[in-house]
Amino acid sequence: MKIHEYQGKELLKKFGVTVPRGIPVFSVDEAVKAAEQLGGPVWVVKAQIHAGGRGKGGGVKLGRSIEEVRTLAGQILGMQLVTHQTGPEGQKVRRLLIEEGADIKKELYVGIVTDRNSQRVCVMASSEGGMEIEEVAHATPEKILKVFVDPATGLTTAEASELARGIGVPEGSVADAADQIQKLYTCYVETDADLAEINPLIVTGSGKIIALDAKFNFDSNALFRHPEIMAYRDTDEEDPAEIEASKFGLAYIQLDGNIGCLVNGAGLAMATMDTIKLFGGEPANFLDVGGGATAEKVTEAFKIMLKNPGLKAILVNIFGGIMRCDVIAEGVIAACKAVSLSVPLVVRMKGTNEELGKKMLADSGLPIISADTMAEAATKVVAAAK
Ligand code: ADP
Ligand code: MG
Repeated sequence: MKIHEYQGKELLKKFGVTVPRGIPVFSVDEAVKAAEQLGGPVWVVKAQIHAGGRGKGGGVKLGRSIEEVRTLAGQILGMQLVTHQTGPEGQKVRRLLIEEGADIKKELYVGIVTDRNSQRVCVMASSEGGMEIEEVAHATPEKILKVFVDPATGLTTAEASELARGIGVPEGSVADAADQIQKLYTCYVETDADLAEINPLIVTGSGKIIALDAKFNFDSNALFRHPEIMAYRDTDEEDPAEIEASKFGLAYIQLDGNIGCLVNGAGLAMATMDTIKLFGGEPANFLDVGGGATAEKVTEAFKIMLKNPGLKAILVNIFGGIMRCDVIAEGVIAACKAVSLSVPLVVRMKGTNEELGKKMLADSGLPIISADTMAEAATKVVAAAK
């Protein structure tokens, strides 16, 4: 789960990382009040959306008077902000962060991710902070320093200081920077984040170290133990189909193709998508109905898939283990009737009560195309989508 910059900064502050003073707002009037409360002479008006690259897209602007803050807030609020992370349609700006302007001498980068290869938390830092870090990672990867943290010791002062020196923090500020990087590490571990990124981490004219941006991603499987982070959820920033799916306990991810997939088990769902691609098709979604799918759940799954205007065909691929094929057949039949299915449907069922399930589908009078093997199912659904 992602959160907004201002929420990330609240978290950072709790863990002792220095952030600028700032106030989140939802309207132009609130923006003006916030600017008055903060006091000048310089303010930054920042669009709050769950995507990076806001600066380049025109979502971060400097104001030098209260009137200018008013104008900028009016321009940015409600705009459809397009960045390299939003896709061409952009994201509507509904919240702003009004922040005191910082005296930037140097922009650095610090990021933390969980590295699967080393099975450790990796702390990255670079002297090339600011808005082009993806470029830096691509063109000059040697400019990104990395520490793979031993979980038993955590990020040590020695490691953090070496990182700080390595990215050009002036000697007088190294202790401060190292301390803040360590605190960021603690924040990452204690909140079950799987990404934490401060870009830029700045050195000010007087040598202070401040986190000027904050980006977090949290492991959704750990959110049950973090109600305080769950409270930061902003569903305006999420895909409506995925929100709808999560209400019914369905794991759904929208993709770009035209073949809807309804599968039980994440592994089989992945294999089904691979098989569709192997036979020249493009999956429209990932969908795992789970082990305990009921007829209602299957119906909801169909409804969600059918909301996708690009959908051309559906493949149901079920392994009847705990889930019996006749229950799935019942769900498929009920769903087809409830949604008055408008695209071809291919069904492959294997396992417990397979024969009964197939018979139910055949007897239903619905135009269901049945298939026995994965290859047959994929061939048929790809043909049906064309
Ligand atoms: P994004 O990464 O989405 O573009 P940032 O928060 O990093 O957004 O802001 C982009 C740039 O705007 C920063 O690299 C920095 O140069 C400038 N900036 C951001 N916040 C402030 C601030 N409070 N004071 C001065 N400059 C700022
Ligand atoms: Mg940034």
